[in-house]
Amino acid sequence: MQEVKKPRKPLIYYYAIVLAVLLLFNFLLMPWAAERQVQEVGYDTFIEMTEKEEIGQVQINQEDNEVIFTNKDGDKIYKTGMVEDPGMTERLYASGAKFSGQIIEQMSPVLSFILSWILPIAIFIGIGQYMSRKLMNRASGGPDSMIFGMGKSNAKVYVKSSEGIRFSDVAGEDEAKENLSEIVDYLHNPAKYREIGASMPKGILLVGPPGTGKTMLAKAVAGESNVPFFSMSGSEFVEMFVGMGASKVRDLFRQAKEKAPCIVFIDEIDAIGQKRDGRVGGNDEREQTLNQLLTEMDGFESNNGVIILAATNRPESLDPALTRPGRFDRRVPVELPDLKGREEILKVHAKKVKLDESVDFNKIARMASGASGAELANIINEAALRAVRENRSFVTEADLEESIEVVIAGYQKKNAILTDKEKRVVAYHEIGHALVAAKQNNSAPVQKITIVPRTSGALGYTMQVEEGNHYLMSQEELENKIATLTGGRAAEELVFHSSSTGASNDIEQATKLARSMITRYGMSKDFDMVAMETVNNQYLGGDTSLSCSAETQAEIDRQVVELVKKQHEKAAEILADNREKLDQLADYLYDRETITGEEFMNILNAA
Ligand code: ADP
Repeated sequence: MQEVKKPRKPLIYYYAIVLAVLLLFNFLLMPWAAERQVQEVGYDTFIEMTEKEEIGQVQINQEDNEVIFTNKDGDKIYKTGMVEDPGMTERLYASGAKFSGQIIEQMSPVLSFILSWILPIAIFIGIGQYMSRKLMNRASGGPDSMIFGMGKSNAKVYVKSSEGIRFSDVAGEDEAKENLSEIVDYLHNPAKYREIGASMPKGILLVGPPGTGKTMLAKAVAGESNVPFFSMSGSEFVEMFVGMGASKVRDLFRQAKEKAPCIVFIDEIDAIGQKRDGRVGGNDEREQTLNQLLTEMDGFESNNGVIILAATNRPESLDPALTRPGRFDRRVPVELPDLKGREEILKVHAKKVKLDESVDFNKIARMASGASGAELANIINEAALRAVRENRSFVTEADLEESIEVVIAGYQKKNAILTDKEKRVVAYHEIGHALVAAKQNNSAPVQKITIVPRTSGALGYTMQVEEGNHYLMSQEELENKIATLTGGRAAEELVFHSSSTGASNDIEQATKLARSMITRYGMSKDFDMVAMETVNNQYLGGDTSLSCSAETQAEIDRQVVELVKKQHEKAAEILADNREKLDQLADYLYDRETITGEEFMNILNAA
């Protein structure tokens, strides 16, 4: 989309004017004035200048007992006291000085006073007047209402343009698109809605994890409806001075009303829309900005054609006054894409790169489970970069697979040297995971196992691929997952009779899973369907806080340990039962460093 920004004189422009005036005053006017001033010198200087024939004009004031004289060029005026000096007149005459009958023109004291006092004061009063006029204007909400542009909204305005983002550029997210296409229809044909008395929602809140295409959707609404699009981030409203943010909100809405019908998009609205709490010394500036936003949203008619879209990934932190009907009265969830969505997003972005025709997008989408739209776009780009690095003119499936690994685990570490023993331990660890996963019916098949160290610190990993979408997970599946996670350590214990630090990440994940099963999914006998934990930050990492008594906490801890222990034992048992295969596979992996799921299954299923 074409971006048009209003030209704005930056603050530095005004400072530059003040500086220029001061410099002019100091470097030009003052020396000039100083030159016009009479310089007082000693009589010896006078004699010396006479001897050197440097005196131009001279005037002797008998009454004041002084001699005033100039240099040869006449641009400097000197004064000295009269001394008994009988030969002075002759010497002066001989040196070629002219005796002036007139008084040498001195700068009048009045002019000197004006230059050194009145002029600077006048300049500063002038600047002061200018600023106060701006302030008055601002108070009255006039068009010129910002001091030095500080309260200007600074919103980026995108105007209609043929190359704007369309709904077709946003892959997946069908529910969100359906919801928003109503807005597009309204902007095209408001009369249809007005006739029946229906009014459009004033504000629509797009909520979802980062990188799922919220900004894209907002731009697509503007692109589809061919109206101007104002875009601003919540944090841009927050200023150092109290009241500035509010002024920016006013300015934004004023501009929007002028351009209606149009779309105003506020990204990361939680920066200003956070719940106002009763804390003493809270953030005044933010609260004022929020209040102004609430007032502005109340202040315009719902049918005037200004639609406000806002995006956030922390909907729970928003002030209830903001989300009530009449303000942001519609909430559109923009979730992480499912398998089909991921495939479509990959295809949309793959159009931008040259691709080998045999690429199986479904497989790539399955490998990238849990990735957001932004991550998928990144995967495609990483793959293209890898193709360039390897001097190929198109991207292959292997590039895509490698770039998923880069996004998950970082780049391959070129110079990490493992000892032979370490490499063997890592090989057993990874095969441990894969074997436990494969032997449990419900675990996803293994795609790839590698023991090439990665920059993320992983010494090896087992990549599992989901067959399809998983919306629900049964207790058994979760337990199997924990068993798979403990499989690595179990293999080390079985073969080397010792533990290594390599399992720290597995331990963390297994604990988290076991904890959720007990505190949130109601999968323990003792607690039945009681929630012990609440999730605070659904879209950003999902931190939890406990809501139970200290005794219950202790009991939860005990049950978590019990659950993990049981699965650990199960994993150990599976590995012990398949000890021969374990050794065989670990040796194979040790030699090859990277093996595919297929090779793994072939060895496992071989007689
Ligand atoms: P958000 O605002 O939700 O954090 P953005 O809309 O800024 O995310 O998306 C970031 C980038 O991710 C986009 O520029 C686009 O390349 C890619 N992207 C995200 N979701 C999608 C999608 N559904 N279809 C196509 N591209 C997407």
